[in-house]
Amino acid sequence: RAKAGGRNGVVLFEAAMLDEAQHKLAIARELAQAFENGELGMHLQLQVDRHGAPAGAELLMRWQRADGTMVRPDLFIPVAESSGMIVALGQWVLRQACAAWLALNQAGHPMPLSINVSPLQFRQPDFVEQVRAILAETGAPARELIFEVTEGLLIEDIGQTITRMHELAALGIRFSIDDFGTGYSSLAYLKKMPLYEVKIDKSFMQDIPQDLSGTAIVQSILSMAGHLGLRVVAEGIETEAQARYLAGHGADMQGFLYHRPMPLAQLIERLDSADLAAA
Ligand code: C2E
Ligand code: MG
Ligand code: MG
Ligand code: MG
Repeated sequence: RAKAGGRNGVVLFEAAMLDEAQHKLAIARELAQAFENGELGMHLQLQVDRHGAPAGAELLMRWQRADGTMVRPDLFIPVAESSGMIVALGQWVLRQACAAWLALNQAGHPMPLSINVSPLQFRQPDFVEQVRAILAETGAPARELIFEVTEGLLIEDIGQTITRMHELAALGIRFSIDDFGTGYSSLAYLKKMPLYEVKIDKSFMQDIPQDLSGTAIVQSILSMAGHLGLRVVAEGIETEAQARYLAGHGADMQGFLYHRPMPLAQLIERLDSADLAAA
C-alpha cells in the first residue's frame, strides 16, 4: 500500500495493474482446470433467413462452474487468448462443431455451422493441418463449416493471412468477418480474401431504424456486401423493427428475437417442433 506523497497515485495504479494481472492469472488457471473437468460446453444459436426459417447456427462457448454460475465468454475468451489456451480450446470447438453437424444431419436438419476462430489459433503454423486432421477424423464436410474471424486478424501479416485463408478455402471452409464495422477494414483487402459473408456487429442494431447515421452505416455495409456478392448476417436482432429493416434488405439474422443460444439437444427438439417446420 502506498504512503502519502506525490507518488501515491502511481503506486495505487501499479497495485491495480498487479491486481488485474493476478486476477487474469487466476482465471487462466481456473479455466484450464474447468477444461479438464469438462465444465466447458457449447451452445448453438440459430440464424434465420428473411422469412424466419433456419439458415445455419453459430457455436458459442459456455463455461459453467461446478457451483452452477456461468462465466461470460467476454471475460474468459480474452484470457484464453493471452494465456495461449485458446489454441487447445479452438481445436475442441472445431471437433464439437463437426460432431454437432453430424448430429443435426442425422436428425434431418443439416445446416451450415459457424465457429469463432481466434487470431492466435489461426496463426498456429500447423493450423491448416489441424483442421484437415479434425475433418478427416470426424468425417464432417468442410463445405458446411464457416470460420468467423475478426478484422483484428487483418492488422498483422495480411499476406500470410490471405494465403492461409485460401488454403482453408481449398479444403471447402467458408469465411465470415465477425463484428463487421467495428474494426479495421479495407475494401482492397476484402476483395482479395476468399470471403463468404460478413456479420454486422450488434452494436449497430440499436440504431435501426430510428437513428439516421447509424442506419446509414448499416446501409453501406449491406450495399458493399451486395456488390461483392457476400452473405450478410445481422447480429443482435432484438426487435421487430430491426428485423423488418434487415430482412427487407435481404440480410439473414441472428438475435434473441428469434432464437437464443441453447444446447444442441434443445436445438434439435426445437427444429423438430411443428412451429418451426411451418416457418
Ligand atoms: P460473437 O462471435 O460476436 O457472438 C455473438 C454474441 O452475441 C454471443 O455472445 C451471443 O450470445 C450474443 N447475442 C446473440 N443474439 C443477441 C441479441 O439479440 N442481443 C444481444 N445483446 N446479444 C446477442 P456470447 O455467447 O456471450 O459470446 C461473446 C463473444 O465471445 C463472441 O462474440 C465471440 O467473440 C466470443 N466467443 C464465444 N464463443 C467462442 C469460441 O468458441 N471461440 C472463440 N474464439 N470466441 C468465442
Ligand atoms: Mg461470432
Ligand atoms: Mg459478433
Ligand atoms: Mg466477437
